[in-house]
Amino acid sequence: MPKIRFQAMNDLLNRSRIPVKLTSVKTSEYFGINVFNKSKMQSYLSQEAYEEVINSIDGGKKIDRRVANQIALGMKAWAIDRGATHYTHWFQPLNGATAEKHDAFFEPTENGGVMENFHGELLVQQEPDASSFPNGGIRNTFEARGYTAWDPSSPAFVIDHTLCIPTIFVAYTGEALDFKTPLLKSAAALDKAATKVCNLFNKEVKKVYATLGWEQEYFLIDEALYYARPDLVLSGRTLMGHPSAKNQQLEDHYFGSIPGRVSDFMYDFEHEALKLGIPVKTRHNEVAPNQFECAPVFEEINLAVDHNQLIMAVMEKIAIKHKFRILYHEKPFAGINGSGKHNNWSLATDTGINLLSPGKNPKSNLRFLTFVINTLKAVHDNADLLRASILTAGNEHRLGANEAPPSIISVFLGSRINAMLDIIENSVSEKKMTPDKKTELKMDIGRIPEILLDNTDRNRTSPFAFTGNRFEFRAVGSATNCASPMVALNTAMANQLEKFDTEVQSHIAKGIKRDEAIFQVLKKSIKESKNTIFEGNGYSDEWIDEAKRKGLTNINDTPTALAAFISKKNLEMFSRLGVLSQREMEARYEIRMETYKKKIQIESRILGDLAINHIIPTAIKYQNTLITNVKGMRDLLNTGEFNRQAGLQLETLKKISTHISNINEKVQLMTDARKEANALKSIYEQTFFYSEKVKPYLNDIRRHIDKLELIVDDELWTMPKYREMLFIS
Ligand code: ADP
Ligand code: MG
Repeated sequence: MPKIRFQAMNDLLNRSRIPVKLTSVKTSEYFGINVFNKSKMQSYLSQEAYEEVINSIDGGKKIDRRVANQIALGMKAWAIDRGATHYTHWFQPLNGATAEKHDAFFEPTENGGVMENFHGELLVQQEPDASSFPNGGIRNTFEARGYTAWDPSSPAFVIDHTLCIPTIFVAYTGEALDFKTPLLKSAAALDKAATKVCNLFNKEVKKVYATLGWEQEYFLIDEALYYARPDLVLSGRTLMGHPSAKNQQLEDHYFGSIPGRVSDFMYDFEHEALKLGIPVKTRHNEVAPNQFECAPVFEEINLAVDHNQLIMAVMEKIAIKHKFRILYHEKPFAGINGSGKHNNWSLATDTGINLLSPGKNPKSNLRFLTFVINTLKAVHDNADLLRASILTAGNEHRLGANEAPPSIISVFLGSRINAMLDIIENSVSEKKMTPDKKTELKMDIGRIPEILLDNTDRNRTSPFAFTGNRFEFRAVGSATNCASPMVALNTAMANQLEKFDTEVQSHIAKGIKRDEAIFQVLKKSIKESKNTIFEGNGYSDEWIDEAKRKGLTNINDTPTALAAFISKKNLEMFSRLGVLSQREMEARYEIRMETYKKKIQIESRILGDLAINHIIPTAIKYQNTLITNVKGMRDLLNTGEFNRQAGLQLETLKKISTHISNINEKVQLMTDARKEANALKSIYEQTFFYSEKVKPYLNDIRRHIDKLELIVDDELWTMPKYREMLFIS
């Protein structure tokens, strides 16, 4: 066996478990210990400073500079007590990672010593030298300044001796260069619109906020095997590899017992996460071998997004400690399940109501239905936007494959809610409803909670499903920053609720009673968005045909889908609601297009290199062995015997030659296509060219390589095979 593959297998066999420091302390005693949360603030801040921060967190009020100084002092004192030596503004630029630049607390003093220093200015705003973050043309190099500004609504935390201060990241001109800025703005737009609609039912509601509970799927792979696969190291996925004879077909991994090394890893990272105040609660094996999931208890959306970004970084670090590498790519291995990041989303009021949870009486149930139906309508009207928010070079492989929903954005509601929608649609008339009809309808609505209790029909194949007290956006890719789909959903919902409120108010102005006005607008919404509801098997081919007949779009290629960022409708909606301006949307579109192009470009280069440097030389080696064997047989045997006995070798030789020449020719054509693409003028043309003309070679070449893997002597094959990479114990 070639050295590196042999060495990797050897390392794996000799791998011992990394001992974890088990703690006998209760979780409640260390939960959030590394977070500057309200209780820490109370003991480290003056009453005035504490109140100012709380007002800012709860009411969005701006913090006075003078008070910022006091807060900075308290924060520094706490952080130093927690062992911090450095501080950083922590932000989420559009490259999908998190960014930080650490500065030490100390400053030199005149007498040659140092003292710890940190003040309000440094807390509130900084100007990182960040000219190489993606900006989509927003920042010219001569005006490349970018600012990070403190987001008090997400608490600071200490990690690895560094105080991290969550911030937004904007250009000199104030335009957003990150995920957090539009997320906060979309949450504000949603708050405004949802509060208005809520006030139709409950006058006392002053604030509505979105909640998010994410479920993060991931793969683990042993470190040695990872390094023996250059494709994994450089692109995050395997660009070749024949499926293992056994993979997930016996369904023996899902919810199975967690392998020892993996549970050590889980224990360790969960411990870190809990100390950072991330309420991780659930862990289990996923469907594919080596695939796992973790999920926390849901939180307010901004905090939940930060926590997801933070935990991804923590898991990456702890995985290395356990000699694993974590794969967040949506489809690291062909032929088995890919990874998603389910986004469980709901709306909560400051009075403690979950607006997507059925209530106890007809009034609260009408409110519940109002929010469910408006979500349905928002998804129906903005399917293009939701799709664009989640399609990437990675997720493209997963959506529409046999384990994930296709790129058709449909909504699952469950039979009970569907029955309710039918009732509303059929019993509400355009003219006035009879008192009897009204009573009947209210009775039906009153029955929702009972019927939902036994509502066990869950649909796992829907990209967007109602799951009892929330919607679950399942088509999101595992590597995606949750903010991308959540900005789209919040904005779409804010827009829809605005429209809903306006229509209801105009009915009321015409003298129609409030409830009746609500019913009429709901009925109209149901009619208009009904074709988006789908209760059947979202993975089936029949659904693709049916969706087409219903007029739903199914766009699986990213560049085409991304155009939704710059459609007239979406540009207008985002700027009207104050979430992203036209220029910001265009910048995001450009960044997403360019990222897509670069990913395909990188994959294509890696595959070309590996095909020429690993695969063809290996195939030739084996070919030579066969040639020697055939020559020897010809010397030893008479023609009749030779023809009878050398058939397999000759046949194999022919197959190998065919694959080699195919690979060689296609790598050449792929390289030519790349050259042609790179010569195109605009990034948009290049991206389409990469998608249409370069990408198909990836599968085409892979097919020949995977066939060779089955033929060539196992001893000669240089890279770890799927069966070796996928079964950790
Ligand atoms: P399942 O695998 O059945 O979908 P999980 O328990 O893995 O369920 O994940 C469900 C997620 O939904 C959790 O993160 C949970 O906190 C979250 N969730 C529950 N209620 C809400 C809500 N009202 N808003 C947002 N997320 C919620
Ligand atoms: Mg789920």
